[in-house]
Amino acid sequence: MRRVPVVLTILTLLLFTCAHRNEKRVIFIGLDGADWRLLDRFVADATMPQLGAILEHAERRVLLTQHPPLSPLVWTTMMTGVSPLRHRILDFTRYSPATRAQEPITSDERAVPAIWNMAASHGKRVGVFGMWATYPPEPGIVLTDRDLPRDYVAATELIHSKARAWIRANEPDLAIVYFQGTDEIGHFTSGDVEKSRAYFHRIDEILGDYRALAEELHAQLVIASDHGFDWGGKHDESSTATATAAKWHRNEGIFVRWPHAKAIKEPMRVDQICSTLLEILDMHGGAAPASGADLSRESGGRSGRRSTGDEQVAKLKALGYLSSTAPAPKTTTGTRTPQSFNNEGLILRETGRDDAAERAFMQALTLDPNYASAKQNLDDLLAKRGIEKLRARDCKGAVADLRRVAKESALLWASIAAAEGCLGNDRAAEDAVRRSLALNPNQPELRRLVD
Ligand SMILES: [Zn+2]
Repeated sequence: MRRVPVVLTILTLLLFTCAHRNEKRVIFIGLDGADWRLLDRFVADATMPQLGAILEHAERRVLLTQHPPLSPLVWTTMMTGVSPLRHRILDFTRYSPATRAQEPITSDERAVPAIWNMAASHGKRVGVFGMWATYPPEPGIVLTDRDLPRDYVAATELIHSKARAWIRANEPDLAIVYFQGTDEIGHFTSGDVEKSRAYFHRIDEILGDYRALAEELHAQLVIASDHGFDWGGKHDESSTATATAAKWHRNEGIFVRWPHAKAIKEPMRVDQICSTLLEILDMHGGAAPASGADLSRESGGRSGRRSTGDEQVAKLKALGYLSSTAPAPKTTTGTRTPQSFNNEGLILRETGRDDAAERAFMQALTLDPNYASAKQNLDDLLAKRGIEKLRARDCKGAVADLRRVAKESALLWASIAAAEGCLGNDRAAEDAVRRSLALNPNQPELRRLVD
């Protein structure tokens, strides 16, 4: 009987050791635009053997993006756990309050804490490298998105060498290392798999380095992308033209957690990344920062240097992510671009808040009356809402919405005819029918109404 306490002691020791070994650290690697369709192919043909080895002992998921799938919006959602409507990073750029020129969107536009604020306020050691919207740098930001060379290969090497050395030296609880090159190469090669092989092979070596680091630190390695990319896809739209670049993005990004029993699990959403990392850090429910959390920004960066971000703006333009690099119009004193209002409108529309979406699209058009995408979005919203009102017998509301649609079509005038008829305005209805027929004479049933 004397053996029982001994066994218990050993068990307790073992449990303690296991718990102790399972330190609550995480190395998070962001691979912009990484897509299982490409990665699986590169694992299978041994272009990415390190990733293959990681996946042997990892949980693997599809990570579903949000709309619109634009990198600063999505990564900030991943880093905060909330919608762009709350975190307020709504575009790639903003108008600089000082120069009124466009500059890459800044950390002080973010309205809620990011995971590095949460972790730092809980006394965790944090290092962040290259992530969107991290300039001016807050505590824990080692390399901002403005500290990077324009060329993606050079940027990849700089980020990796800095991050690897820093993580080794500082043994952080949370490291976030973000690479944009995995998305850029897709846009620049129009999704050419062969032209991308060498770069992804280098990314694979880098992943192997972080796996080794994670092993040394007893950390979890988490790899994720903000959206997928249609590798090998056929598109009429250019992969680097304004307003169409993002049409190459797919909804399905990637998520990997290592080490973990090998598993393919159900899809996860980008807004669940923050809570997943908090859970690994043992900060459940730690989303709210401790009172007095330091959210202050160091002005001008760590080394005191200031950056206008001109290089980054030029790069975003080359990638087709910016429709214009024009400075702020005289009509605004704010920092928000027309695109930020347009993006906000799209998100509001998707969440069913049509009236707020309408106001956002109109704000975009106030700043840039020739903004084609905002015009189209406002038209779509008015036409859809007009038809809904007609169905609900709100004839007056239907007429008001439909008559505000800017782009004429046979269908629009037919809808206006129905709405005016519903109001009892026979003349206006007949006139609308004629206008519809003028645009498309081949509508025999409509023609019968006026002939
Ligand atoms: Zn992206």
